[in-house]
Amino acid sequence: MSPEKGGITIEEPQDIPEPQTTKRRESRRSTVKQLILPQTLSVKRLSELLETSSIDVIKQLMRNGVMVSMNQVIDFDVAAPVVASFGVRPKLAEQIAPGTIRPLDVQEEDSSALQTRPPIVTILGHVDHGKTTLLDTIRKSDVVNSEVGNITQHIGAYQVHYNDQPITFLDTPGHEAFTAIRLRGAQLTDIAVLVVAADDGIMAQTIEAINHARAADVPIVVAINKIDSPGADADMVKRQLSENALLVEEWGGDVIAVPLSAKLGEGINDLLENLLIVAEISELKANPDRSAAGVVVEAKLDRTKGPLATVLVQSGTLRIGDRIVAGRSTGRVKAMVSDLSMRVKEAGPSTPVEIMGFDSIPEAGDRFLVAVDEKTARTMVEDNLKGSVKNRIGSVALEDVYTGIADGDIQELNLVLKADVQGSLEALQSALAGISGEKARVRVLHAGSGTITESDVLLASASKAIILGFNAIAEPGAERLAERERVQIRHYDIIYRLTEDVEKALQGILAPTEQEIILGHAEVRTVFSARRQVKIAGCFVADGRITRASLIKVIRDGQVVHEGQIASLRHFKQNVNEMTAGYECGIGIENFYDIEEGDSLEAYRIERSRP
Ligand code: GDP
Repeated sequence: MSPEKGGITIEEPQDIPEPQTTKRRESRRSTVKQLILPQTLSVKRLSELLETSSIDVIKQLMRNGVMVSMNQVIDFDVAAPVVASFGVRPKLAEQIAPGTIRPLDVQEEDSSALQTRPPIVTILGHVDHGKTTLLDTIRKSDVVNSEVGNITQHIGAYQVHYNDQPITFLDTPGHEAFTAIRLRGAQLTDIAVLVVAADDGIMAQTIEAINHARAADVPIVVAINKIDSPGADADMVKRQLSENALLVEEWGGDVIAVPLSAKLGEGINDLLENLLIVAEISELKANPDRSAAGVVVEAKLDRTKGPLATVLVQSGTLRIGDRIVAGRSTGRVKAMVSDLSMRVKEAGPSTPVEIMGFDSIPEAGDRFLVAVDEKTARTMVEDNLKGSVKNRIGSVALEDVYTGIADGDIQELNLVLKADVQGSLEALQSALAGISGEKARVRVLHAGSGTITESDVLLASASKAIILGFNAIAEPGAERLAERERVQIRHYDIIYRLTEDVEKALQGILAPTEQEIILGHAEVRTVFSARRQVKIAGCFVADGRITRASLIKVIRDGQVVHEGQIASLRHFKQNVNEMTAGYECGIGIENFYDIEEGDSLEAYRIERSRP
């Protein structure tokens, strides 16, 4: 885009990178000698008028003993000292235009039942940067807990207090766990703490973590850890953060970065205080006066107590005796135990509790709900069973993007890009940046070099994204996961082909080309009769692999006699997801009752791509 082309000259340069934005802001402020304010205004509006971040204003208000969130409306009397602290003279406007609507009045009415709830925090970051140590240290730092002398137990989440305000932490760190919960359709985390070791800096998994948090629209607070280490360089971390579009506050951005030592316990209070500030800004609210709904965080089978599940209540209050449903499990809450091993009778929003009473083990990430009666509970379980695939956030294929746009389902075409080398990745990103459709734009959730990993597939699945590989192969585990989650992986070796496909998808002219990819073959050595008409083929996998998700062709005397899906795949009595060459297995085929000894089975999957 050359400026001459359109004949437009821009008089004021707008995009000069300037790390010293704070300075710029200050100089601007000094020219504003007086600020005329209405009788009431929101914190956000005040920060805009002061040309500063809402965080700065909230911090100043906190210093003045006023706890408010970004969208809350404050009076001139409360705003005035804040304005003064920025070196500006506040002045009350003479009159307010009649009929001025304060948007918050409307919101307040609607949200009368809502109450502030504690933030739920997940810790992300590169391996060995100190996530586990930080979680341990935070937990031990809790004054309330240690004073009472309670025994803590690991239930998958815990709560600590800072200034008497609770904060809930998920005890499983890492972006895989974070995204695995999203994959099941639940958004649990309110704030992500990104741990970066000051002696190591931003690494591959740090960038992955940033992109996973961004894809989920979760605000990031950075913990610059290991500042006690001799090689620590916090400025290097801040610089690297800015290279990844995370500009820290002191450099004029709005990202909070807290230097700390998880090992020595330094800076922990500062981190907790900042988490509460971000929580304030996010206005986390829930109605505690309704039946509970939330998410299963962890579940296991206890020999004496039966299935135990830790849940986090998102809204409502969970009580002993409540009839609960989660995924395929149901039951009644018989007992609840807190993270401090205390028996509790009820659990409100953002409170983690381990519950006893499920009839089977639900899965982490399953949503749970309280059902009014037995019949409703059973119907809900049945619906969950039927809809287990359908209820997923859903997969998307490039060919179907246009239909999604037309239906209003897709406003952004989410992509995960993987390329063999950094150079081609950059070329791809700049080529894609120029593409946008009328109603949808391209959003690259994550771009990285190297193979396509399980973490890429998790991200794509949880965010309805497509994976585009440029000379990048998929790891076997990733390929299997993509098959199961029905995530489309498309491979390219020419840049313009890739961008052309994306462009065509947005315009709705991408003709699907289907290609059968053969996965493996099995010989039918014997046939068993199961219930009713169902027949099971006792097979030997001759080559490749047969997966539970693969499609199957039955070949008899060189002719395909049936094409369809696998109904069951078993190794001895065990249901399995996959059998590889050299093994025996039992295969049931959906809607086919005519399998014969000597038949050959071909497992394949459909790859939709360009010829
Ligand atoms: P994770 O893989 O991110 O969970 O990292 P860990 O918490 O297991 O920590 C990895 C290593 O870093 C361990 O040897 C920790 O003792 C060490 N470590 C963690 N935090 C700090 C810190 O603040 N300072 C120093 N010097 N070492 C730390």
